[in-house]
Order: sequence, then C-alpha cells, then structure tokens
Amino acid sequence: MIRTLIAVLSLASSISTQGSAVVLQYHHVDEGTPAITSITPTDFAAHLQHLDDENFSILPLDQITDTLKSGLELPGTAIAITFDDAYISIYTKAYPLLKSRNFPFTIFVTTNLVGSSKSYLDWQQLAEMADNGALVANHTKSHLHLLRSEPGKSDEEREQRIGEEISGAQLEIEKHLGKSPRLFAYPYGEYNQDILALVANLGYTGFGQQSGAMGADSNFLALPRFPLAGNYSELASFKTKVRTLPMPIRPTSIESLLEPGNLRPELVLSFTEGKWRTGELTCYGPGGKMDIEALDTTTFRVLPLEDVPVGRSRYNCTMPSSEQGRYYWYSQPWIRKKDDGSWYPEP
Ligand SMILES: [Zn+2]
Repeated sequence: MIRTLIAVLSLASSISTQGSAVVLQYHHVDEGTPAITSITPTDFAAHLQHLDDENFSILPLDQITDTLKSGLELPGTAIAITFDDAYISIYTKAYPLLKSRNFPFTIFVTTNLVGSSKSYLDWQQLAEMADNGALVANHTKSHLHLLRSEPGKSDEEREQRIGEEISGAQLEIEKHLGKSPRLFAYPYGEYNQDILALVANLGYTGFGQQSGAMGADSNFLALPRFPLAGNYSELASFKTKVRTLPMPIRPTSIESLLEPGNLRPELVLSFTEGKWRTGELTCYGPGGKMDIEALDTTTFRVLPLEDVPVGRSRYNCTMPSSEQGRYYWYSQPWIRKKDDGSWYPEP
C-alpha cells in the first residue's frame, strides 16, 4: 500500500513541476530607509495582493525545506516570505498586512541587534509575531562578514568564531522564544565551501541572497532567495519571479569569491535528462547578455562580456518552461575584492 502510494506520488511529481518553491527576501518595509534594502509598504502590500489574487500557497519556510528534503510534493506555487536583520518595520508595517491574510513568514534575526535601538525589533515583538505565524531563525549574533572574519587567524580559529556566531544566536533565540527552526541565512549572502561544511555540521539549512527557485535537487546549504528591494521590488518583475522554477541542471559548487587572475569566470551549466528549451537559455552578466557556447547537447558554457566588478554581483540565467509565462531561473553570485586585495566597503 505504502509502496503504491509512493509510486503514485513520484508519478505525479514527474508530471508536474517536481515540487519547487520560491523564497522572497525582504529587509525594511518602510519609506525613508536605504533604498537598496527597502520596499515601500504600498509596494509590499501590492506583492501580497498579487500572491493572494493568484492563489499562491504561502507556506512556513521549514515546511517547504522539510517537504522537499523528504521527496514529498509541494503545491505548484509554493512561496515563503522572509525578512533579514530584524528591522522594526517588519512589526510596524509588514506584520499587520501579513497577519490580516494569515500569511506565515520567517524573520532571520541578528540577535545582538534585537532590542538594541528603536530601529530594531525587541524580543516581545518577536514573541508576539512567533505566536501568530512567524518563524524566528538564525542570522548570526553580530552580522559579521563570514568571508572576512578573523583575518590572519588559522582556519580553525576562523571556523570556531563562525561556529560561535551561529550557535550563540540560536541559543539566544531559543532562550527568548523557546524554539527556533534550524534555518540559517548568511549575512551579505557570503559563504565558501568551508563555511557550507561548517553549517552542514551544525545541522542547518542555509539560505543565500542569489535569486532563483529551489527544488529537491537544490543545494540545501545555499538555497536561493529573490532579494526584493529598491529597483528589484517592482511589481512586473515580481510577478515573473514568484512563478519561476529551479533550473534543471546538475548541482554546481562554484566558489563565489574570485581569485585575482579570474575576473571573467565561466559558468558551465549541465542540464539533466529532459525536454528543455536550452536553445532559449539566456544569461545576463557584466556587460549585458552573455555568450553561450554548447559543449554538447546538455552542457553549456556561459561567458561574460566584461570583468566581474568589485563587490557583489551575479550572473542570472533563465529559460522558458513548457508552462506559459513560467521560467526556469538560476543565479550564480560572485564576490570580487579590490585589486589591492582589500575588501570593498559595504554600500
Ligand atoms: Zn542581513
């Protein structure tokens, strides 16, 4: 009986989208806060209205990751709403809109900032939201740059510091709220393979800030989210993003941090078995639309027209699916230090 049920479930998944989800990433929902991390309450309300109008399934983030990890099916339009850093406007502006629609959401909190000033949430506000559909998850204690921490120290010392930042934040959340899902968002979306291994050892699911949809084959240590702030919060593109599907490629594990001699890194996308419209694969990177070279029928090399700029940037690739208006989306983040080897300032 169970075997039959599993067979039916997997048949269903191969016909549909195989189960995927889109995670939205917000910071401030406010006017007057920095545009690069803000969406206005009016625009945020328009996002929620669209999700409501189109009957998207707004699910708790841990339910989405648990379902995908266990190979079970998600609704075709699963969405999770997340906020980073614990800004006050989550409570004053976003929460009333979310609560009125019964939309669950996740707040990745930097625990040292909680209650530190009027700009940030306090534990009482977090507790109230946790009682009404919010998950409060881990964004380190001090919002440190994980790639920059402990310069000059040994790998062991660096790893210990990062471990303390993550475990300490988790303890703090659990102390105040009693529980916290083991979900972790990398500050600034920064990680490398060593940091991913540490996060895996600590037992967390990890989230970056590269755009794209997630599916059962995604890397659960570096899951994508769509950052929705400033120019990226605009409704027309939001409507496309929330309908995206995970690019059907074999998992890649490329370091984001570029070596000085490699400023035009190539991206090789290796597609899984299937009838994909690879002829319509399109990628954008520094300098615009990127060159795509077919290495064979399922493998494509993507090359930028210009050097990757200093700071954080991405290559974004899309390909139409068989469903009208739904695109597969994959994003590769890059981090380039200044030419003298020093770190760029955060904007
Ligand atoms: Zn953050």
